[in-house]
Amino acid sequence: MLRTRLASYAARSTSSRGRRFEEPGPDYRSEFQRDRDRVIHSTAFRRLVYKTQVFVNHEGDLYRTRLTHSLEVAQIARTVARAMQLNEDLVEAISLAHDLGHTPFGHAGQDALNECMREYGGFEHNLQSLRVVDLLEESYASFPGLNLTFETREGILKHCSVRNARELGELGVRFIERQQPGLEAQIANIADEIAYNNHDVDDGLRSGLITLEQLAEIPFFKEQLDWVRRQYPSIAPSRANREVIRRMIDVLVSDLIQISEDCVREAAPEHIDDVRAQAVPLIRFSAPFVEVQRTLKEFLRSHLYTHPRVAQMTRQAHETIGFLFDAFFADFDRLPVEHAARARQDQTTKGRAGAARVVADYVAGMTDRFALQTREALAGLK
Ligand code: MG
Repeated sequence: MLRTRLASYAARSTSSRGRRFEEPGPDYRSEFQRDRDRVIHSTAFRRLVYKTQVFVNHEGDLYRTRLTHSLEVAQIARTVARAMQLNEDLVEAISLAHDLGHTPFGHAGQDALNECMREYGGFEHNLQSLRVVDLLEESYASFPGLNLTFETREGILKHCSVRNARELGELGVRFIERQQPGLEAQIANIADEIAYNNHDVDDGLRSGLITLEQLAEIPFFKEQLDWVRRQYPSIAPSRANREVIRRMIDVLVSDLIQISEDCVREAAPEHIDDVRAQAVPLIRFSAPFVEVQRTLKEFLRSHLYTHPRVAQMTRQAHETIGFLFDAFFADFDRLPVEHAARARQDQTTKGRAGAARVVADYVAGMTDRFALQTREALAGLK
């Protein structure tokens, strides 16, 4: 049964902790709908379509990109939120924004940029997503960034070192005091894991880099596969794959909703701040499904993410990001005019680390193909 009333411990846009820059409330939308809409209209969101999830964007039209990944996260998160009488608009805003800070070339790109930034405070995509919505988007006349609500920003910042947390004011407090975010943020976080584990299995099978036989070694996968083959003995293999993945997502989401509802009932929070004060997250799987998620993740790490063909992409990504960072950091004139001006200004006010951050922001914002084109153009200049 679908319920539409919000639970007392759900996030409410009418009692939001607010935006960094005060604004009049929207006339026809809730504050969280407005957040979601600002994310959708941002340039960083549009770029996600040309950013790698696992496979580089030009490797094929059917693989997930950061954009379709984010849409799948939002779909799963909304289902859970609605079933639990939590704020669907907020989980959607968080889900769509959670990967805005991703570099080109997926995790390989982030690792490479982190190495480039080692002496200058490092680079972390999750923190960068917050930086995008707080600072780097330049679309509004009266404030920098998207000026999102506290609750959406709380959800975007999934993890953070204590050192970085100290610089984040109210948003960093929970990492220092070891508290939880609201349930909507917890849902978006787990929906992310459910989405990538399953769609990476799907894309891995589609690419031929992993096989059904390998996957059948995972009991959870085999259980679903056997069921599908029993019910549909003459089903085409690719259709069977899709059906298995659809069923895996369904089983995982059902377990998540049931167990989380039990946890919430037991903890009996009355207000979102009671949720925040908990020692552990209330949105979670049962123990067997924590294990399923761990097994899927481990399988993908050892069979897909480290597959020689993916590893080759990883090496190219490392080289490209390293090349771009070094080229821009050595000569600001290679940057677009406004970035060059900012790099000079920040170098004067904040030192070399300030300029490095401007370069990292610029490189991180690139799409896969723009990074490759820029590398070629800069190499041609030499
Ligand atoms: Mg993600």
